[in-house]
Amino acid sequence: MRNRNRHLKETGNRVVYGRTSIRGVITDQTCPSCGASLVYSDEYMAYCCLLCNTWLEDSCGNSECEICLTRPDTPLPGPPEGCSL
Ligand SMILES: [Zn+2]
Ligand SMILES: [Zn+2]
Repeated sequence: MRNRNRHLKETGNRVVYGRTSIRGVITDQTCPSCGASLVYSDEYMAYCCLLCNTWLEDSCGNSECEICLTRPDTPLPGPPEGCSL
């Protein structure tokens, strides 16, 4: 049984979590904080945990990198929803 993925759903090229979704895929890697599967964001080319709503990678260090410049502070807008499960 793989309970740790129950919050995450892949739909087409998006990963749905609660009422929100991001463009990306569910990976085999797990979050060091909560143990959920990490999601790889196609949009920002970085791993993130949607349950913790954090990026697992710092920006690449290039101050002119457009991907890092446009990457929001958290993968999902606002605090995570649907955490009451
Ligand atoms: Zn997590
Ligand atoms: Zn970058």
